[in-house]
Amino acid sequence: MVPMDVKEIYDLMKKTPTEADKKLIKKALDFATEAHKTQKRFSGESYIVHPFEVAKILADMRTDPETIAAGLLHDTYEDGHVSLEDVEKNFGKDIAFMVDGVTKLGKLRYQGLERHVESLRKLFIAMAKDIRVILIRLADRLHNVRTLEHVRPDKQKRIALETLEIYAPLANRLGVWKIKGLLEDAAFPYAYPEDYKKVTALRKTKGKETIKKLEKVYRSLSKEAANQGMTNIQIDYRIKYLYSLYLKLKLKDMDIDKIYDISALRVIVPTIGDCYKVLGMVHSLWTPVPDRLKDYIATPKPNGYQSIHTAIFTGDGNVAEIQIRTEEMHREAQYGVTSHILYDEHGKARSKLKSDKKTSWIRELLDWHKKIDSHEEFLDSLKTDLFQDRIFVFTPKGDVIELPKGASPIDFAYAIHTDIGDHASGAMINGKFSSLDTPLKNNDLVLIEVKKNSKPSNKWLGFTKTTFARKQIKNFLAEGKKIKN
Ligand code: MN
Repeated sequence: MVPMDVKEIYDLMKKTPTEADKKLIKKALDFATEAHKTQKRFSGESYIVHPFEVAKILADMRTDPETIAAGLLHDTYEDGHVSLEDVEKNFGKDIAFMVDGVTKLGKLRYQGLERHVESLRKLFIAMAKDIRVILIRLADRLHNVRTLEHVRPDKQKRIALETLEIYAPLANRLGVWKIKGLLEDAAFPYAYPEDYKKVTALRKTKGKETIKKLEKVYRSLSKEAANQGMTNIQIDYRIKYLYSLYLKLKLKDMDIDKIYDISALRVIVPTIGDCYKVLGMVHSLWTPVPDRLKDYIATPKPNGYQSIHTAIFTGDGNVAEIQIRTEEMHREAQYGVTSHILYDEHGKARSKLKSDKKTSWIRELLDWHKKIDSHEEFLDSLKTDLFQDRIFVFTPKGDVIELPKGASPIDFAYAIHTDIGDHASGAMINGKFSSLDTPLKNNDLVLIEVKKNSKPSNKWLGFTKTTFARKQIKNFLAEGKKIKN
């Protein structure tokens, strides 16, 4: 067997690894190689290929050295005849905890509702203790779907669907968008083979065309940047992920000519000042398309996304999309939560979730779910709270409240404060009086009217989506009954 080259991992890491980092990762690789030495994968390859590839995905995700080491070790304890004590003795408590967490999550296969729910519950508990366990699990899943060709056909479909329905949404909610895109594109051909063929063909023809257009723009822009003395500028193209193109196509009757952002030119520069300088350059070289300029640097999207987007007439009857951002914004757009929670200012790894707005929903979700007993209820609430599309609604003070699609002013009121929910009597949506059952839309500005003697009624449950609000209403109604009796 050809031994794995540990340098491939070092090369992918965020920062040049220190000698201590290297020692740790090398030791984990040697330990895993030894533990798996007699095992083979379905493909016939040595088993170590799998943890090695998982570690590479983690390094590319910019996780810290401990997470990469745990990624190398993640299957040793389950498959490799190694005890958890061995792992702890060699690598310490934190890494052993991660390995144990990933193993426990992996043991549960999604067979039937009961076990499905139980594993999701475990996922959340693990997430609360150390979110890095989830990142390893996502990397593990990514490598497994990438190698699905070696698996039995009936299993392929199940794993692919599960990836699209559970893992990709989870990556999405954690903001690791690159992993979400990769998971979806790897699972797509096995989940919906016919549609996959169609979309691939569409993208191939259309993609070639748009790339040609972008190449011209690319050359002119690079030249102008050089003329103006901007040397630290990276320009490349981005083509939309296949599965997200598919979802968009489904909304547009599969007509690819109705999709404008199939590809875009991406410009990455060192500072925010440079971003605006590039924007000025672009708009002086080409005529901008009216209303397509979006400055998400000055006003970031509610999920934190930052970039300047614009579109230009290229002069030959075409339109090109251009995105401008700093290095840091680019990293965040790809790795979301991981680029925030894994390193503190000193570059030291953090294992616990910090009280950070971007991760607060995880903790809130956990608190509510702790109080839910029945499995069905848990699954239902997960579907709405985690996996459904989210909307962002504003309070009059400008705070952003994140809610599931279809949420009502009641959900909004409870998200602000239980007392406001309990006494809501009406709502002003974008300055208009509206009834409490009006479905809220993205970017609505909502003010809740409160009256002392207003109180929750059974009817409210008919238009309330969030687990938290439903729970509060039910509590209120149950207590009312108690007092009457
Ligand atoms: Mn694995």
